[in-house]
Amino acid sequence: TSNTNTLDRERGILIVLSGPSGVGKGTVCAALRQVAPELVYSVSATTRAPRQGEIEGVNYFFKTREQFQQLIEADEMLEWAQYVNNYYGTPKRFVEDVLRSGKDVILEIEVQGALMVKNKFPEGVFIFLLPPSLDELQNRIVTRGTESDETIRSRMSVALDEMRLMEHYDYAIVNDHVETACSKIQAILAAEHCRRDRI
Ligand code: 5GP
Repeated sequence: TSNTNTLDRERGILIVLSGPSGVGKGTVCAALRQVAPELVYSVSATTRAPRQGEIEGVNYFFKTREQFQQLIEADEMLEWAQYVNNYYGTPKRFVEDVLRSGKDVILEIEVQGALMVKNKFPEGVFIFLLPPSLDELQNRIVTRGTESDETIRSRMSVALDEMRLMEHYDYAIVNDHVETACSKIQAILAAEHCRRDRI
């Protein structure tokens, strides 16, 4: 599509993909990367330790608590949240630069942060990823095998609270199959582009 009619249409779309931990946001995002390389994927900052195979600047920017606090105080975070025992947040400048360049940017973040983004970017597209069932959600958190029992319990309790915030979102997608979820995200994006193309 040509985006020549209004200034607004030259800006990219901010997409927020959110939902409870273990719902498969990361998996869906990775699959989306394969089929939608035109999307830009925001890299978050976190105070949690890197998992096996995670790379600085690719999966996350790994920070100390002090560094993270400084980023918040310097107003460099678009949003941030404390999740279980760590901070997670989206560096602001990168997202703003991408949107200004006319590209769409996607944030894969938890629910509190997503609501913070909604206050700042109400024109964004907010997608909630749902587990097929709560049992399935617990299975996914357990079988990932990277978390202790204590962390699994905290993550499950956070997940239940997060489900209640779904009403603030524009769309809900049940993540029963990754490919189907990806297709739905692409369909939503196509529709949102058409909406913004109206004169
Ligand atoms: P994990 O530790 O499994 O990588 O991520 C834990 C949770 O933090 C996931 O729900 C993930 O989506 C969320 N998360 C990752 N980056 C950000 C971020 O920049 N901001 C917020 N609010 N949540 C994030």
